[in-house]
Amino acid sequence: MAFDYENYMKAMESFMLQMKSITDIRSSQFGGALKDICQFLRIGRIEICFCEVLSDGKKKEENIIHHFLDNGACEEKNEFTAKEITGEENTVYYKFYPIAGEPLWSEIEIDKISVLEKMLHSFYSLVRIMGAAEKMKFRDQQLPLWNLSYFTKLVEKQIEMGQIERYAACYFNIKRFSTVNQSIGRDNGTKVMLAFVKNLEDELTQEECVCRVSRDNFIIFFYKEKLDFIVEYLQGMDIFYDEKENKNVNIGATAGYYVVPDKDAVRTPNDLMDKIVSAVNMARNIAKAPYVFYNEAVMEKINNIKQVESDFRRALENEEFLVYYQPKVELKEYKLAGAEALCRWMKNGKIVPPDSFIPILEQGNSICQLDFYVLEHVCKDMRRWMKEGKEMVRISVNLSRRHLEDQDLLDHIFSIVDYYRIPHQYLEMELTETTTDVEFKDLKRIVSGLQSRGIHTSVDDFGVGYSSLNLIEEMSWNVLKVDKSFLPLKENGDTRKSVMFKHIIALAQNLGLECIAEGVENIEQVRILKENNCFLAQGFYFDRPLPAAEFEKRMQRVGEA
Ligand code: C2E
Ligand code: CA
Ligand code: CA
Repeated sequence: MAFDYENYMKAMESFMLQMKSITDIRSSQFGGALKDICQFLRIGRIEICFCEVLSDGKKKEENIIHHFLDNGACEEKNEFTAKEITGEENTVYYKFYPIAGEPLWSEIEIDKISVLEKMLHSFYSLVRIMGAAEKMKFRDQQLPLWNLSYFTKLVEKQIEMGQIERYAACYFNIKRFSTVNQSIGRDNGTKVMLAFVKNLEDELTQEECVCRVSRDNFIIFFYKEKLDFIVEYLQGMDIFYDEKENKNVNIGATAGYYVVPDKDAVRTPNDLMDKIVSAVNMARNIAKAPYVFYNEAVMEKINNIKQVESDFRRALENEEFLVYYQPKVELKEYKLAGAEALCRWMKNGKIVPPDSFIPILEQGNSICQLDFYVLEHVCKDMRRWMKEGKEMVRISVNLSRRHLEDQDLLDHIFSIVDYYRIPHQYLEMELTETTTDVEFKDLKRIVSGLQSRGIHTSVDDFGVGYSSLNLIEEMSWNVLKVDKSFLPLKENGDTRKSVMFKHIIALAQNLGLECIAEGVENIEQVRILKENNCFLAQGFYFDRPLPAAEFEKRMQRVGEA
């Protein structure tokens, strides 16, 4: 029978037209596209088999990867098979089975089947190339790892599927990676970093990922139930870089986590990214902790800290900080005995108390600038009072512990004090207790340096730290400021407190130290002080911290009863 070219061309054309809109060989539409041409060529089933050549040259068994038009009734023995070699030396077989009960294929039909096979193969190759290119888009450029686009894709998919609340995410940075590189070499460093991340990747499913963002920064997107495992893993693991020599290095990370609470919390991959980046920054720069979990309170804290830090420099230049003076009172004749300089921030017309900015400035060295600023303003005020002929009292200035490591601190203090020609006996520095041995040594040096040149020193908040007794034994302070927490509220009200208070004062007196009680708020406390032979007090019962102008009026009452 003559070959029906006309219908062959029609069937081929229909196949090619339908192929134009198909992008994946696995698509179910593909079988539909093949329908006409297969019917024409009496093909009952087509199989595509893949045979992989392994790295040792052996062949992995054939796997049917796709089959089409399977109607079950085929002449299994009389198949036509074509073999194609792919770029990676792997083999792909295309197997065509005739419809059962039909006469054998003619030569010309076999010829046309092999044309069809070539077309299928070129389509298959194209799809593979496109797949590889697509995959490249999501791979890191240097290491065999996913990249940020992959994270975005996966998160988008989970958001779309309404499953984002099953997830948590983490941004991490490998701790001291440059030191690791220096100590074991860059190549080993990279090897170790890759192994650290790959071990983690092994624990994840296809719906989770670990991605490299840049150098030693990564993101993990994972199911919530793996949280404990990941937190522990990132704290540190021994990673081998030379198995034979048994050489390893401990790798750990600083991390920021976010556990998605509900669907509405994360609407885009950026929502997730912003949160884990804030958390890791908090861990690294502010909390100085191995990890931080994101929550709104953390965010507010970061914003507040950033705000204070960025406003501080400008505020200092604009002289927005004010110095207030809280009188110290002598209890025999109720005379003004001195004052403590306390700073306030006049911010946008409102007075901000020190507790809301000093702890933040104390995390860096900004507090030192502020203390010098306060000292300078105190000296300026004192110079003016001296010029006006006022009777002088001793003014104390707070010095943060942050100054202790500053080797030039004493020079700096005396340069300010001497510039304004303030007699040293009118100044006192309040210092708090220390926590480390190094600080203790520095404190000793500073206390004796101030004293040797006539500036008074006082232990502030005495009793709340850890080294109180050592501190007064080894350094010769002038004044001991008993912290307000030791002050009994009422006579016999709190016996433990009363006993401690009594003994602290006795101790100070036996050592020849002046003793002052802070935070005195009522007349009963004044009576307790007097009964215990403490005749100096500072507190709201007498005065609140006063603006300079008001304190000056108070000064004029020096000598008054
Ligand atoms: P501090 O050195 O212990 O200062 C005493 C604090 O107790 C002051 O709080 C003062 O207003 C408060 N106070 C005084 N009398 C009473 C009272 O009767 N009852 C109660 N409840 N409180 C009383 P302020 O001014 O808010 O300062 C808080 C802390 O901020 C200071 O504690 C000090 O540690 C720090 N600070 C203030 N100014 C400076 C400064 O210029 N430099 C440094 N480094 N720290 C400063
Ligand atoms: Ca103080
Ligand atoms: Ca104090």
